[in-house]
Amino acid sequence: MIHITNRQDCCGCAACAQRCPKQCISMKEDAEGFLYPTVDTEVCIDCGLCEKVCPELNSGRERQPQKVYAAINKDEKIRLGSSSGGVFTALAEQTIDEGGVVFGARFDENWEVVHAYTETKEGLTAFRGSKYVQSRIGNAYKDAERFLRNGRKVLFTGTPCLVMGLKLYLGRDYDNLLTVDFLCHGVPSPKAWRLYLKEEVARMCDKNSASSHPKSLIPERDAPIVGISFRDKHSGWKKYSFALTLSKASAAGEKNTVSLSTLVENPYLRAFLANLSLRLSCYACPAKSGKSCSDITIGDFWGIARFKPEIDDDKGVSIVLDFAKGSVIEELDSVDIQPMNYEVSSVCGNFSHSSIYNGNRPLFFRHLGKRNIMRLFERYAYPCFFQRVMNVIERKLAQ
Ligand SMILES: Cc1cc2nc3c(=O)[nH]c(=O)nc-3n(C[C@H](O)[C@H](O)[C@H](O)COP(=O)(O)OP(=O)(O)OC[C@H]3O[C@@H](n4cnc5c(N)ncnc54)[C@H](O)[C@@H]3O)c2cc1C
Ligand code: SF4
Ligand code: SF4
Ligand code: SF4
Repeated sequence: MIHITNRQDCCGCAACAQRCPKQCISMKEDAEGFLYPTVDTEVCIDCGLCEKVCPELNSGRERQPQKVYAAINKDEKIRLGSSSGGVFTALAEQTIDEGGVVFGARFDENWEVVHAYTETKEGLTAFRGSKYVQSRIGNAYKDAERFLRNGRKVLFTGTPCLVMGLKLYLGRDYDNLLTVDFLCHGVPSPKAWRLYLKEEVARMCDKNSASSHPKSLIPERDAPIVGISFRDKHSGWKKYSFALTLSKASAAGEKNTVSLSTLVENPYLRAFLANLSLRLSCYACPAKSGKSCSDITIGDFWGIARFKPEIDDDKGVSIVLDFAKGSVIEELDSVDIQPMNYEVSSVCGNFSHSSIYNGNRPLFFRHLGKRNIMRLFERYAYPCFFQRVMNVIERKLAQ
């Protein structure tokens, strides 16, 4: 049976919990806010199925893509609502047109990130755009298997480890399944996200500090959240902006207020890119270098200004790594594609390399939930010289 001795060796895909015939594995949130499996040993029959489907115990084969493209969705509105070039929506719309089902990550009613599916184009809006938080997979593999067995086309999208977990969970190939993952930096803690959002909403509501509102807040009755984008493009794709929209009731009626902050200004994004708030498995990712077995990998084509400046309008370009599922990408009418010719690992570092461990991570998580999160980000993600010295002392004392 599954037994986690080192938390780095579990990416939280929940393949084990979904496959267990006795349903004796439950996914429980740890102190850092990530889900890990717990087995009820009284019920377990020691069948070993949970181990057979675990991405951490079944190493994949490294693969190189057959083809590489730069891609842009022809619908500008869709591209502006997407994190890079809008390839996800193009693939998803085609799946829906063919009577299929699309799986992806969306916000739930509490603005937590969950995996879900949709059978309509309207339903795709919720999946569009990156959410830099670990998605809760729930029973998505079971749902996908049911659709596949009924002969429906399924497009499954998610992190490489989620795609790897799905493939192991299914245990066989399906011609009606298309999997799409992305170049993955790692996933931040849902608990850190929850606390950040609470403080940010409080700040926007002009209540000074969240420390005076330890429990209340999401969504506040007088200021419900109406939209969140981790990759707002009003200041340009390359600026990488976070947008939080609240609806405030006033004597004049409902009014939306937007807080917009670029990567350099936003503490949550800075902590994410400083590798402070990531799941432990993301520092030793089991699914990199094509090991996820995904059919297609997408990402931000950051080098586009160097390789093809004529298509770089700062509205977003996707890189598409095609591991050959026929010519799915080439047949999409809704995207402009440009074949590219180079070694992928030379431009996409995180195709093969895991994020580097941040030595302040244990200190950050030790204080998470006990202190103001904005201060924790400041102190551990981008400390000033004096704070760096203090962090070294704190680390030594913690050993
Ligand atoms: C946590 C995370 C880390 C990433 N790291 C990198 C990186 O280092 N380098 C890089 O080039 N690109 C990275 N990306 C991918 C990039 O941000 C874009 O999502 C990708 O380029 C697709 O963009 P798009 O315009 O085609 O479609 P979009 O509409 O932006 O794509 C949305 C897709 O992402 C999926 N998705 C969104 N949030 C999550 C989530 N939390 N968990 C699982 N699936 C999710 C949706 O289901 C949908 O399939 C990351 C994405 C996420 C969510
Ligand atoms: S060994 Fe079998 S019964 Fe026990 S937890 Fe794993 S899958 Fe479930
Ligand atoms: S990686 Fe997935 S399958 Fe393996 S133990 Fe963790 S949740 Fe279970
Ligand atoms: S970095 Fe690897 S382990 Fe972490 S979320 Fe991405 S694919 Fe999963």
